Amino acid sequence: MTTRPILVAGAGIAGLSLALALARRGIATRLLERRAVLSEAGAGIQLGPNATHVLDRLGVASRLAPLSGRPEAIMVAAGRSGAHLARLPLGDAIDRRFGSPYLVAHRADLQAVLLDAVRESPLIECVLGFEVAGWHHDGVAVVATSSDGKETHGTLLVGADGIWSAVRRTLFPSAMPTYAGKMAARTVIPTAAVPARFASNVTGVWLSPDAHVVHYPVRAGQEIAVVAVVDEAVPREGWGGAIEATSVLARLIGFSPELVGFLGLATEWRAWSLYDPAPLPAWSKDRVGLMGDAAHPILPFFAQGGGMALEDAETLARLIEGAAGRPEQAFSRFEALRRERVLRVQTASRANGKTFHLDGFPAQARDTTLRLAPGALMMRRYDWLYGWNGDAI
Ligand SMILES: Cc1cc2nc3c(=O)[nH]c(=O)nc-3n(C[C@H](O)[C@H](O)[C@H](O)COP(=O)(O)OP(=O)(O)OC[C@H]3O[C@@H](n4cnc5c(N)ncnc54)[C@H](O)[C@@H]3O)c2cc1C
Repeated sequence: MTTRPILVAGAGIAGLSLALALARRGIATRLLERRAVLSEAGAGIQLGPNATHVLDRLGVASRLAPLSGRPEAIMVAAGRSGAHLARLPLGDAIDRRFGSPYLVAHRADLQAVLLDAVRESPLIECVLGFEVAGWHHDGVAVVATSSDGKETHGTLLVGADGIWSAVRRTLFPSAMPTYAGKMAARTVIPTAAVPARFASNVTGVWLSPDAHVVHYPVRAGQEIAVVAVVDEAVPREGWGGAIEATSVLARLIGFSPELVGFLGLATEWRAWSLYDPAPLPAWSKDRVGLMGDAAHPILPFFAQGGGMALEDAETLARLIEGAAGRPEQAFSRFEALRRERVLRVQTASRANGKTFHLDGFPAQARDTTLRLAPGALMMRRYDWLYGWNGDAI
């Protein structure tokens, strides 16, 4: 391997974890992040055992453990009545089955443990305020250029710059994310203020036509992370911008008063319009490739976009390590290994989004199935997803 670093655009979950996975293999990275300060919105993230396996391999799982939660189950409720529909076991059951826990965390805590590990590594250089705008080859190296005219040289350029990826635009200018007709509003609520049902150690999912709500404890149980997903005809300007609490509550009017009362405790909400683009024709060209949301944005109804970014990082790092001499080959192998799995997760997530918002007879049929089917059996449908541990790369 040449002494030039791997250039990674974006220090989100994908970029940070790729840099760590490369460093563990002795490969240097230069992380180029457009923001001057790294921070995270007040929001949570669920991490299935496939994701926590990677965090363990990156050496950060033990740092995240005291900050995160390990919910006992996913509790599904009818949104209008609050009636209990299903209990899908997590906790010890999932840990035993897959050898790694299902965790829930505040995004700032996940980012902090990844960033601490990045800063401790002599093989990772984190350059803030570098907005990748383009790139070219100089015959030997790939040269990333910033929007204000800076240049930096590397062996490969990996676009880990999220759903609005500038690197993707350079490769596939016409590939724009398609609006999915839904908006997600997120917040965190201090646990001390909330009724017992919402403070319990579970992931709660409330279903109703046109909307669903998910909540789970973060920060070692001190806060409850909430996401409310509603149908919305027109996408919003911006990504993660502030939204009035009254505006969120107005869209959740049909929900049970118990849930609405709980959500009324939130003071600050942020909103993300959700996008569901068609698959890209390819994830790389020559020495420039994509990963994470830049390559394959995933609707959040399966809580797996971050999980796929972590799996991507472990896979790509291993392939770059194995492709010395022809590093660009790592990208084509990466796509061959990852595309089908990611497509399956995208499809499953899309289907969950439809199922969550069913109305009328289809909703009754869904609820009956949820009431009657054993939770443990329902969880087995996801063995293909949670059973990933990187051994087969
Ligand atoms: C409402 C919602 C709920 C979700 N819940 C979950 C969940 O529970 N579990 C889960 O696993 N996933 C979840 N996801 C998905 C998950 O958040 C994403 O898949 C994940 O954050 C993608 O990580 P990334 O690093 O690819 O992109 P990002 O997190 O978007 O990071 C991209 C980084 O690149 C930087 N950047 C952008 N452009 C440039 C540029 N030109 N130059 C340099 N830097 C640049 C950005 O500043 C950012 O730091 C959810 C998503 C949403 C919207």
